[in-house]
Amino acid sequence: MYDTDDLIQLSALQHMAFCPRQCALIHVEQTWTESGLTAEGRIMHERVHEEDRVSRGNVRIESGVPLRSLRLGLIGKADVVEFHRTSDEDWQPFPVEYKRGKPKMDHCDKVQLCAQAMCLEEMLNAHIPAGAIFYGQTRHRLDVVFDEALRRETEAAAKQAHALIESGCTPKPVYAKRCERCSLKVECLPKTMQKKRSVKTYLTRVTGEP
Ligand code: SF4
Repeated sequence: MYDTDDLIQLSALQHMAFCPRQCALIHVEQTWTESGLTAEGRIMHERVHEEDRVSRGNVRIESGVPLRSLRLGLIGKADVVEFHRTSDEDWQPFPVEYKRGKPKMDHCDKVQLCAQAMCLEEMLNAHIPAGAIFYGQTRHRLDVVFDEALRRETEAAAKQAHALIESGCTPKPVYAKRCERCSLKVECLPKTMQKKRSVKTYLTRVTGEP
């Protein structure tokens, strides 16, 4: 169990699952940059959060729901939590995350959503088997099942993100395909930084002496 002073932002898990260096740049070095794409994403989230509370038949929809888990050491907000009525007394929570782009091959978005579900489970003493991610580019809602494998992956990402942020160290860049869609590509300079030579290597090269 974590202390309330030691909670980290839930979004760090998504950043960690995407790239540990991106996670450290944002959550250790507080580097952030607003590009056209991140601005679109931010506006989309703000619109969703503004909607507040809606009821549609047997579904109640709450926006901008505060989240916390002392077990995972996380704090954050869910874009939307739908509450589906299952009986007169019971409502099944169903988190929905809004993303600007389209579904990705990696699990970053699913890990973030699963972390939201695990926070809600702890807060509401409930079991949440599934949620969904709405992708703005494809206008498609992807259902996500919170199975054991995804839960373990989420717990591991939370532990890794805590360890990284507590270390205060930013890993060196490793250029990969993901860098091309990274919002911090300009600040990170993955190709340039990776090629950085040591002083000794530089002197050896220019003087020809070992
Ligand atoms: S540019 Fe690449 S190495 Fe740098 S933070 Fe982004 S994903 Fe990580």
